[in-house]
Formats: sequence, structure tokens, C-alpha cells
Amino acid sequence: MSTNFDLIVIGAGPAGSAAAFTAAQEGISVLLLEEHAEIGIPVVCAEALSRSTIEGYIEIKPEWISHELSGSILRGPIGETLRIEYPHVGWVLNRKVFDKALASMAQAHGAVIKRLTKAIGIEENKVIVNEDGIQKTYSFKFLIGADGVASNVGKWMGIDTRLALHEIMVCAQYVISNITLDPYYATLMIDEEYTPGGYAWIFPKSRNAANIGLGISPMKAKKSARHLLDQWVKTEFAHGFIKKKIFGGVPAKILKQFSGKNFFLVGDAARFADPLSGAGIANGIKSGVLAGRNAVLWLKGKKHYFEAEMKKEILNEIKFHERVRNIYMKLSNNEYSEIFKIGKKFFNGEKIDDINTHLLVKHLLLSSPRLLRIGFNLLF
Ligand SMILES: Cc1cc2nc3c(=O)[nH]c(=O)nc-3n(C[C@H](O)[C@H](O)[C@H](O)COP(=O)(O)OP(=O)(O)OC[C@H]3O[C@@H](n4cnc5c(N)ncnc54)[C@H](O)[C@@H]3O)c2cc1C
Repeated sequence: MSTNFDLIVIGAGPAGSAAAFTAAQEGISVLLLEEHAEIGIPVVCAEALSRSTIEGYIEIKPEWISHELSGSILRGPIGETLRIEYPHVGWVLNRKVFDKALASMAQAHGAVIKRLTKAIGIEENKVIVNEDGIQKTYSFKFLIGADGVASNVGKWMGIDTRLALHEIMVCAQYVISNITLDPYYATLMIDEEYTPGGYAWIFPKSRNAANIGLGISPMKAKKSARHLLDQWVKTEFAHGFIKKKIFGGVPAKILKQFSGKNFFLVGDAARFADPLSGAGIANGIKSGVLAGRNAVLWLKGKKHYFEAEMKKEILNEIKFHERVRNIYMKLSNNEYSEIFKIGKKFFNGEKIDDINTHLLVKHLLLSSPRLLRIGFNLLF
């Protein structure tokens, strides 16, 4: 087998596989490297994906889904609930199946996939790997770093990838079975004490099992995410069976630089997760597709538009959500309750088919003098 490739993609998560299948279908040679033995394992994700965020990029197949969602139940600090009816809003995926399927699409288009192959360094145009215990090198003309939140590729290419404490969300999540729930609704909960600077979620995988977790800001939290989740699970899911425990971080700040002479960073490696929700699957796939397409242009000696396309498709929204997160981080339970009241009026029990975040934020700010004061300074 040749060790020279037009494109090497490091990391076979959604972002890396999307880059690999997009580029491979243009007929260039692609090597996709994955350090784990099986793609999609371990799952460090709550697996929720909203339809609107991925439209136009990939079509979600029924076999990739654990359950379809038709709306959300929002829970506030003093027991408020708000039910939002949003038919076909999205899915709780089965990422073990989903991630494998995306990698298989790359393989079907001719990409070579190497599992149990960990990139350990880059020298000029060569990736040094540990392939099942043996050190080897593979050469590239173009490189895409898709190695997730703990990415090294950026560092290796000379980018400052450090994050400050206020720029991350710390998450704890248990997969819990032996519970009863309506599988069509995702539950989201906010509370200063239990979810400081973040939120908690119940994302159903079936009528009897769900991904149950929380993401918090280490700047605001006095207790660990694990401790807070244990407390919640003990009170609400005492009879549940904890099948799996997951801990991880979500970046809430994009990198200043995510491309260079002959490389792009995509997905969590470039910190493209949504700073407000922590969702990174859709932006991973979008950035992967755009990176794959633009790497092909570069390889064909043409001008590429990666940064400009990223700005239009993802970055403008992320930057807006970054500013909204800064407001959210300053709120207390009283303001959360106020938001609930306004939200009840905004959604008004009707079925919706779109949420315009800009309009919703404007509505919230204009409805409360304190929110307006905080928001005006941070947004404009
Ligand atoms: C607790 C938690 C819950 C979450 N819930 C959601 C959710 O519900 N919805 C959502 O949209 N997002 C969620 N996210 C975020 C989401 O999981 C990520 O944004 C998404 O997986 C990013 O995709 P990616 O392809 O960039 O990175 P990853 O999915 O992390 O994939 C990176 C891949 O690179 C491989 N790799 C890493 N280093 C190397 C190396 N040196 N050599 C070879 N391979 C390497 C890894 O093994 C991995 O397979 C959650 C995150 C956490 C922590």
C-alpha cells in the first residue's frame, strides 16, 4: 500500500469522516486515521441533533437514530415547565452506528481508513503515527485535523490552542435505563444551583432509557459536574440503572486561527461546537464538508474559500451565540424565571416549525429592563 496521499485526515469522528467522504468523492487519494480500534467507540456525547442545523449537508437515515424528537420540555428553577411542540425537530442519534456509517461513506468513495493508528506528530509533510504499536510515517500534500476537543494537530501546526477556564463547559452524563419517559421530547433544565452557567438534559434513547447529563461552567460552579449529576440522579432517577458514565469537556470559544498554508482544522479540533448549546455534531459535519471541498480546490491548484464559507455557514452564528452565552452566564434564578414567563408568551402553546434565535433574544431583552441592560453592553 502506498504511504503517500493527497489528503490525510486525522480523526474519524463526524468532522473527519465528513471531510474524508467529501474529498474522496472528487477522486483524490485520502487517508483517514483513527486511534481507536472501532470508529464511534467510546461515545462521549448526548447524541442530540436538530434537523435544521444539518439540512443540506447530510440526510439522516433511520438506522442511525435511537429516537426521533417532536419537541422539548423546558424546566426552570422553581418547578416551571414549558412544553414546546416542534414536530420533526431532530433526533437522538446512535453515535456508535452513525460515526461508523459516516466513515463507511468515506471508504465507499475510496478513502483508506486506518484504525488503531494514532497520529503522534507531524514533520514537514509527514504524519508520524503509532500503528498498532509500530511507528510509521504517511506523507500528505494537504492535512485536515479532526482530532476532537483534545486536538494536537493545531498545536503541531503552530497554532495557539489554549483555552481559558471561562471558555469551556465541563460535562457529566450517565446513560440510564429502567426509567419511564416520553421518548419524543428532549428535556432541558436550568437552575443556578444545579447547572451553574449551563444546563441539564434528558435525551431519550427509547421509552426506558436516556442520556441524562449536565454541562456547567467551571467559573461558576462550586461543585463538580459529577457531584451535581449524582445529586440529581439520586432524587429523580433513584430506580434507574446506570449503564455508563461519561465525562468530558466542550469548548465554548472558537480558535482565532483554524487554517494554514496546507491544512485546515475542523469540528471540535477548531472548537466549532455551539457555545450556547454545546452541540458540535452538526458544525463538525458542516466544517468537515467545507474543508473537504476546499482541500480539493487547493489540491487542484485553484483558489479556495474555506474561511469565507465557514464564516457564512457557521462562524457568524457561533459568534452571536458566544455573546448570548456571555449574557446567560450573568443571569440568576430570578432572571431564569423571568425568561420562562416570557418564553411561555413567545411560544404560546402553538406548534412551531422554526426557532429564530435572533428574534427570541431580542424579545427576551426587550421584555426585561435588567436583561436589556446586561444584553445591550454584551451584544452591541
Ligand atoms: C458530555 C457531552 C455531551 C455532548 N452532547 C452533544 C449532543 O447532544 N449533540 C451535539 O451535537 N454535540 C454534543 N457534544 C459535542 C460533540 O460530541 C462533539 O462536538 C462532536 O463529537 C465533535 O465531532 P468531531 O468529529 O470534531 O470530534 P470527535 O467526535 O471527538 O472525533 C475525534 C476523533 O479523532 C480521534 N482522534 C483523536 N486524536 C487522534 C489522534 N492523535 N490520532 C488518530 N485519531 C485521533 C478520536 O478517537 C475521535 O474518534 C457533547 C459533548 C460532550 C462532552
